[in-house]
Amino acid sequence: MQGKLNVQTENIFPVIKKFLYSDHEIFLRELISNAVDATQKLKTLATRGEFAGELGDLTVEVTLDPKRKTLTVSDRGIGMTADEVERYINQIAFSGVTDFMEKYKDSHEPLIGHFGLGFYSAFMVSDKVEIFTKSWKDSPAQHWSCEGNPEFTMEEYKKEGRGTDIVLHIADDCKEFLEEGTVLQLLKKYCRFMPVSIRFGEESVWVDSETECDKDGKPKRVEKKQPRIVNDPDPAWKKSPSSLTDEDYRKFYHELFPMNFEEPLFQIHLNVDYPFNLTGILYFPKVRKTIDPNRNKIQLYCNQVFVTDQVEGVVPDYLMLLHGVLDSPDIPLNVSRSYLQSDGNVKKISQHISKKVADKLEEMSRKKEDEEHSALEEKWDDIKIFVQYGMLTDEKFCERAMKFYLLKSVDGSHCTLDSYREKIKPLQTDKDKTVCYLYASNPDEEHAYIEKAKAKGYDVLLMDSPLESHFINLLEQKVDKSRFVRVDSDTVEKLIPHDDSIPEKLTKEEQERLKPLVEGAVDSGRFTVQMESLESDDAPMQITQSEFMRRYREMAQTSGGGMGFYGEMPESYNLVVNVNHPLIGRVLAEPDEARQRELVSQLADLALLGAGLLKGEALSKFLKRSTELI
Ligand code: ADP
Repeated sequence: MQGKLNVQTENIFPVIKKFLYSDHEIFLRELISNAVDATQKLKTLATRGEFAGELGDLTVEVTLDPKRKTLTVSDRGIGMTADEVERYINQIAFSGVTDFMEKYKDSHEPLIGHFGLGFYSAFMVSDKVEIFTKSWKDSPAQHWSCEGNPEFTMEEYKKEGRGTDIVLHIADDCKEFLEEGTVLQLLKKYCRFMPVSIRFGEESVWVDSETECDKDGKPKRVEKKQPRIVNDPDPAWKKSPSSLTDEDYRKFYHELFPMNFEEPLFQIHLNVDYPFNLTGILYFPKVRKTIDPNRNKIQLYCNQVFVTDQVEGVVPDYLMLLHGVLDSPDIPLNVSRSYLQSDGNVKKISQHISKKVADKLEEMSRKKEDEEHSALEEKWDDIKIFVQYGMLTDEKFCERAMKFYLLKSVDGSHCTLDSYREKIKPLQTDKDKTVCYLYASNPDEEHAYIEKAKAKGYDVLLMDSPLESHFINLLEQKVDKSRFVRVDSDTVEKLIPHDDSIPEKLTKEEQERLKPLVEGAVDSGRFTVQMESLESDDAPMQITQSEFMRRYREMAQTSGGGMGFYGEMPESYNLVVNVNHPLIGRVLAEPDEARQRELVSQLADLALLGAGLLKGEALSKFLKRSTELI
């Protein structure tokens, strides 16, 4: 029989080829999916008793013949009768392609690589495609052939076994699909977890010899060839969570990401069938100091067929820090990204995942009776940034996380937001009834300041993630009457201003005389000199840096644009002079002006040294002068 394919457009083949050029490798996924489907259908018929014959070996096979320039996909599934080829290949499938082309011909958006073009995607890489098929029903085998134009031929031929061979005559400009390495890589990418075994060529394994021994009498290791199965038809995410151990989950993680050597922290196994269908496993990796810009570590599958690892729009941004697989037949595949983002199912799925993540973290925050620390405390350092990022970018998640977020003190203890507030309230509420949270970003550098705060009975938090400045802003908005101040942003008295002030030992006039002297000892562009009435045993001079300026500078540096103004501000500090310190009194009383200047410089340099700001030549000079003074 000869015929003309049922198409409106005169010749759509050149369009298929050109339009999908960048994605043409998906032809293999499409053909193997069809072979797998045909096999699964046969299995279903067998379980229902409709098919009573031998199932036999149902492995799908991919073969290359470089001489004939063919790539063949063979299955032992249900096959097709002449009628079915007419219906599914000549008519229906093709109209699907036409609709698709019609819909997207003007689209300039990147399409996600899973068009479901089906069988006809074979023409993206072939000059000619042949189908040899015999149905499981008692009907003659068919040979269909088409050379990439709307004409095809179809005739009966003799074939014994049931099933279908799709033979692609690979076009000259697509020769890479005749190379074993390329095809193997594609099979590993798209077919790795398809539910029927797929065989491609052979592989070597090393086994104990049955006949030969080495000189110690042990069996010799010999190389053996065996058929290469490229997929794992029964991946962990499809199994019931109760049947899996932690070890199984870890093993599966390494199967998914063979190049990731770090162990994941824990995982969430998703398993929903109503109101949408979703399975998958999401692993929490360690996120320590940075947010990995290469976030494509979530693979999206549709019934175990790989679709993409570009999941922007499918899951909320912060969840892209997780690693794993999601499998859902309810995520529409034949669409563009912007459509995906507004799709109802996608939204529901994404909310569901968010909720599951919050559930898991909340559950981990509950301490079991026999444990000293909750599981969340144990892992906190490794997931803090993840939680912060989620809270900053997802309102709903933020609401949930306010209950389990942990503040960590410099001494290593953890507290939830509520209990921490209760703990510090008595000592750390200022005269305006605002609760002041003190924190350090670098306990080594800020050691002296931390000690002073501790001496007052204050607690100091450790806040050292790259998102911290943004996160602090968020907390100040969320928690009424709260203020965060870094320990070095003011003198300890003023960090948390109370009503009681310390009487000043120097008169206003004496302070006026002292100020220009101190100003002369430091770079006036960077340092503002302030006279303050502090405890007489506090340092004579110290450096502080305004919380507001520093935090906004940091925020400008870690967010793109919009805050550029703050980012460009030079770093500025306060040099605080303690007017009650005995040494300051002595400076003022010093009759020799040169000696007075020297004393002021020495005290100012000491303060700079304490803040880690004395470097290079200034530091050498300071050290020399100190030795002379001794
Ligand atoms: P889709 O798979 O999306 O339905 P295709 O164009 O890939 O579209 O295939 C159209 C139809 O052709 C399939 O639904 C199936 O009925 C039939 N078909 C394709 N390949 C095979 C095969 N290897 N064995 C049996 N039937 C097949």
